[in-house]
Amino acid sequence: MALGGTRVLVVGAGIIGRSTAYFLARQGAKVVLLDEGIAAGSPTSRASLGVLTHCNGGDNPYAQLFRDGHALYARLACDLAEDLGADVGWRPLGGIELFADASQIEEVWHFNRERGCRVERLDERALRGAEPALDGGCEGLYFADDHRVDPLKLGAALWAAAAQRGASAAWGERVWRIAQAGEAIEVATSRRTHRADFAVLAAGAWSGSLAAQVGARVALRPVRGQQARFAGAPLRHLVRINGRHLIPDGGETIVGSTLEEVGFRLETTRAAAAEFAAQVRSALGRCLPLSRQQAGLRPKPRGGRPLIGPLTDAPRVFVASGHYKNGVLLGPITGQIVTRWIAEGTPGRDMRHFAPER
Ligand SMILES: Cc1cc2nc3c(=O)[nH]c(=O)nc-3n(C[C@H](O)[C@H](O)[C@H](O)COP(=O)(O)OP(=O)(O)OC[C@H]3O[C@@H](n4cnc5c(N)ncnc54)[C@H](O)[C@@H]3O)c2cc1C
Repeated sequence: MALGGTRVLVVGAGIIGRSTAYFLARQGAKVVLLDEGIAAGSPTSRASLGVLTHCNGGDNPYAQLFRDGHALYARLACDLAEDLGADVGWRPLGGIELFADASQIEEVWHFNRERGCRVERLDERALRGAEPALDGGCEGLYFADDHRVDPLKLGAALWAAAAQRGASAAWGERVWRIAQAGEAIEVATSRRTHRADFAVLAAGAWSGSLAAQVGARVALRPVRGQQARFAGAPLRHLVRINGRHLIPDGGETIVGSTLEEVGFRLETTRAAAAEFAAQVRSALGRCLPLSRQQAGLRPKPRGGRPLIGPLTDAPRVFVASGHYKNGVLLGPITGQIVTRWIAEGTPGRDMRHFAPER
């Protein structure tokens, strides 16, 4: 697979756009990564918790994509370390899930075991040994395949490695118009018009309105997520309680995240901060000082599965979006698939379930 000199314009420098730019540049494409924001990265990808959760989805195309995306990380972290000397913070931390209602443990344990997940029961003593900082006696489950990556470091490294292979960036340019011009794609921004052989729309929750420029209907909506960082990191694992994660990261604990249908409003709220602080107090039996809050807009597709592939009436325009709660986990595999699709005319796997116009 080689793309020697093929010009590809990637719109959106979140985790999906950066992953795609990286794999395209590795195959020799002439990549321009374009974003209306700054090089530091998109708010949504930066707000991500970076949890690479185990898969319990059985035997279907989405579960397979999920598993392959998860498996790609160890190798990717290694490649980026070799290329750049970069540590992207990939850690196989393992996850512990706690349940207020002990009867749920049995059910969740069976559900995961039946689907081949590595899951162990933790009685009160085992739990105390694994996580001495947790307050109060209860039981839980341990998931060996819950991993984490640092989304900020990963995004920076993917872009640096792409740039090392000749990719260039157009920061601070907002796309206004996309059009087919014979065999080329023209993308007009607030500053200039770019011409490319292919365009990849990796603009997160905004990808639908960009696809509409070439007459395609791609259904996506934003779902806000907030998280907060607290000073102090007493935990060793990714701990999940009542659908919220508590994550050790350097000297801090990250807590998140909310799911809020508030359109494109990106602000953080006091209510979320108070809820996360209460979560910390209840899990650890003490308070930690709040250091920072962040919010992002997850791109939620209709039908639940990500939107990946070329548009029917504009086959040189690809969509790579709609990853909702799992964009960090699925970013690299999406970049790999899109790269192969552009280079070879086929994605190398059955992608019908992920068609962008559905
Ligand atoms: C609080 C929170 C926690 C999360 N936790 C996890 C997790 O633990 N694990 C996981 O896998 N995922 C997680 N996610 C989900 C994940 O962060 C998203 O799925 C992912 O970041 C989406 O990336 P993206 O590249 O598609 O979009 P974005 O990151 O939104 O990037 C899109 C980019 O497109 C640019 N853009 C848009 N319109 C235009 C235009 N017209 N012109 C130019 N540029 C444009 C934007 O400026 C932006 O930079 C979480 C999300 C949130 C909010």
